[in-house]
This record gives sequence, C-alpha cells and structure tokens, in this order.
Amino acid sequence: MDCIFCKIAAGEMPSNKIYEDEETLAFYDVSPQAPVHFLVIPKTHIRGVDEINESNSGIVAHIYEVIAHIARQLDLDNGYRVVTNCGDDGGQTVGHLHFHVLAKRTLAWPPG
Ligand code: AMP
Repeated sequence: MDCIFCKIAAGEMPSNKIYEDEETLAFYDVSPQAPVHFLVIPKTHIRGVDEINESNSGIVAHIYEVIAHIARQLDLDNGYRVVTNCGDDGGQTVGHLHFHVLAKRTLAWPPG
C-alpha cells in the first residue's frame, strides 16, 4: 500500500518525531498551521474516522492519552485544538487516520 504515514511509521520515510510507542507515532507537521502543529497516528493503517469500528476504536482512546502526555511535555498550558479531517468534504488529504494538534496561537471558531 502506498501510504506515506505507513512509511513514516515503518521508519522508511523521515519525520520530525516527538513520541513513539508500540501503537502510535507523533511527529511535527511539515506544513505547520500554528507555532506548534504535530500529528499523532496509529501505526496500523486505518483510512480515517470512517473506518473506526468496535474492533479498532481502542486506539483512539490511546491516541488521546498520547496527546495529553505530549501536551504536558510541551507545556501547552494555554490550550490546544485537536482536529481530525475525514474524507473530501472534511479536507482529509492523507488517507491514514491522524490527529492534528495545534497550539501556541488563538484559533478561530468556527474554523470555516
Ligand atoms: P489532512 O489534510 O487532514 O489529511 O492532514 C494531512 C497533514 O499531513 C497535512 O497537514 C500535511 O502538511 C501533513 N503531511 C503530509 N506529509 C507529511 C510528512 N511527510 N511529514 C509530516 N507531515 C506531513
């Protein structure tokens, strides 16, 4: 499968890694939309939120634990936003489930 995030998870493509465990990887986004912008992905290929089901949803809870852990490490005390785009209308451009974490600037709401 030609998936760039699978390649990053497998170490076949470089990334600016922040955190890794057996199930997840976190790395900085190459095109940051905030002073702090990183992605957290499952190492297993899941296309997006539209492929989450009762057999794989446990990884989502774990990813949120990872996000909270990294946020504490990076001192994101003033808050942050977690975003997951899904499908074309959601603006998803990489078809491997990922959670954007944006911080260190005030973010508009609604996002537009
Ligand atoms: P989305 O558009 O929600 O699917 O988000 C995909 C994100 O992946 C975008 O913010 C891209 O900037 C980012 N991205 C694409 N390729 C890489 C890469 N090789 N390393 C880090 N981030 C990437």
